Amino acid sequence: MAQQILNFIDGMFREPRDGIWIDDVNPATEEVIAGIPDSDSADIDDAVLAAKRAFPAWAATPAAERSRLLLRLADAIEKNLDELARLESIDSGKTLSLARRLDIPRAVANFRFFATAILHDASEAHVTDNAALNYTLRQPLGVVGLISPWNLPLYLLSWKIAPAIAAGNTCVAKPSELTPLTANRLAELSLEAGIPPGVINIVHGLGAKAGRALTRHDDVAAISFTGGTVTGAGVAANAAPRFKKLSLELGGKNPNIIFADADLDDAIATSVRSSFWNQGEICLCGSRIFVERSIHDTFVERFGAAARTLRVGDPLDDLTDLGALISAEHLQKVTRYIELAKEEGGAVVAGGRQVDRKGFFVEPTIITGLGTGCRVLQEEIFGPVVTVTPFDDEAEAIRFANSTRYGLSATIWTRDLQRAHRVAAVIDSGTVWINCWLLRDLRVPFGGMKESGVGREGGFESLRFFTEAKNVCVRL
Ligand code: NAD
Repeated sequence: MAQQILNFIDGMFREPRDGIWIDDVNPATEEVIAGIPDSDSADIDDAVLAAKRAFPAWAATPAAERSRLLLRLADAIEKNLDELARLESIDSGKTLSLARRLDIPRAVANFRFFATAILHDASEAHVTDNAALNYTLRQPLGVVGLISPWNLPLYLLSWKIAPAIAAGNTCVAKPSELTPLTANRLAELSLEAGIPPGVINIVHGLGAKAGRALTRHDDVAAISFTGGTVTGAGVAANAAPRFKKLSLELGGKNPNIIFADADLDDAIATSVRSSFWNQGEICLCGSRIFVERSIHDTFVERFGAAARTLRVGDPLDDLTDLGALISAEHLQKVTRYIELAKEEGGAVVAGGRQVDRKGFFVEPTIITGLGTGCRVLQEEIFGPVVTVTPFDDEAEAIRFANSTRYGLSATIWTRDLQRAHRVAAVIDSGTVWINCWLLRDLRVPFGGMKESGVGREGGFESLRFFTEAKNVCVRL
């Protein structure tokens, strides 16, 4: 009997008002593992009301006490790391080993980071000659709406909940309908940790129904959204006319630029991860690889050989490198792009096929021979599919890198320090990694340029997003 997930509203677990449920499927087995509420605007209304009621007391709770409760929640997540990693794996198809190493430890870190950040926050004062003293109050917004995707479920949900409630807001979170399990467990752990009822509310359901209702709710002061670019445009269309604060973390088509003077061993080993970790379902994966022509063939040969050694299979097996894609629809989308690559004239030099077993598995796939204008190099595939394209000089590498409407992250491989800084400065992306990938410091600004997003998260940027600055001017 599949588990029944309930909404978490006002510290209680509740059935959806319409009594309708959605199947939650394990992508590696295609089995239904849970039923989740198909919530609608009535459930969102209940959750927003609970959050609104809880807000004054939570906002007035001293920072040291909010910090203590968030640290308890971090401890509770850490104590249940193995169970949460397993839930994440069966829900999303990602490997258990990655969930253990990356997803759940990062959720712990997110709560610890913002729990302690609020103890070190400071504000500004501006002295106007001998006439006035201005000081800035940063006050919580009220009820905030948090919408997160399926690829890093607890990692990204906690990246929003932690700063939102640390800053004194209460929240209504809408996790992806494809991966509700760890959000549900987080709700239970928040009770254990002593987070007061109504501070965290979690409403499950479809984006177009529950998510949309959240973005349109008059009592929600801000929306923090992570997901696809097309969805983000719809979220903005609903939230902007209601003058909500908006943070949009959207899609990417990230360049991975490898110059001939790079440490090739390191570049290849890291490119295997940046291409295929989490089945390529990380917004920061480097899906467009550009290699200086003199080393292009060597790179393709060695990178292809490394990709062919990767094991695709049971996500719960520690020896597996790539698990399942999130859904049948996503599998279809990814394999369609592989077919499109061939139609556009590309050569598949590794992988290229769906794996013949139950579940939604695709081989790690490398495509060469496509120009930068091809759809396969322009559109986000969000799977284990990368292209490799040669370039002739630095100017061409930069032009290729900047040739999409996205601008989330980029990686540059070179031993020439001046070139590294020069190229980093002109690449259109919110994050540039030099000779590394996914090396994250939670204090740094994180976000996208162009159609990869609006606004920045991370460190004090997140705390600023979740607060309203108010200037107080005192005549001297
Ligand atoms: P998605 O846009 O389909 O869904 C994201 C969330 O939005 C889900 O919770 C969904 O239910 C909800 N949603 C859908 N329609 C909605 C609507 N009309 N109103 C309100 N909410 C709605 O994205 P996804 O498929 O879950 O995730 C993959 C995408 O997320 C990729 O494009 C990836 O690049 C992006 N992503 C970006 C970042 C980043 O930090 N920039 C991080 C992870 C994922």
